[in-house]
Amino acid sequence: MIEGGCHCGAVRYRIEGELIDAGYCHCDICRQTTGAPVLAWATFPFGAFHYTQGAPTVYHSSDWGQREFCGGCGTQFCYHERKDPESIDVNIGTLDDPEQFEPEYHIFVAEQLEWFDVDDDLPRYDDSGRDGD
Ligand SMILES: [Zn+2]
Ligand SMILES: [Zn+2]
Repeated sequence: MIEGGCHCGAVRYRIEGELIDAGYCHCDICRQTTGAPVLAWATFPFGAFHYTQGAPTVYHSSDWGQREFCGGCGTQFCYHERKDPESIDVNIGTLDDPEQFEPEYHIFVAEQLEWFDVDDDLPRYDDSGRDGD
């Protein structure tokens, strides 16, 4: 069972499905909506993700996608496309056990902050790369 939630505890979620993949995203939208220099996402089939307590606030972060977060404490849970989403990206930092999914690649490195560097040998993509969307 994969579960997670926000910092204040008002909103909880559960994932019942297999991991598709996990990676770091350096895009401007992830940075601005979280305040963090980079985000680590774990991607699952869309239908695998369910809220089990509380309800998130929804923000349309682009013409095609939305982010869901706790309206009380601001924790951002996930990103998905609004039109026929096939998958959902879950913010690894909100999982009860964030150690269980390790990023496998970096995407949108064209937007990476110059002072932020990670010493790993993972594949790097200037755009959405392996996410393919
Ligand atoms: Zn909260
Ligand atoms: Zn991003």
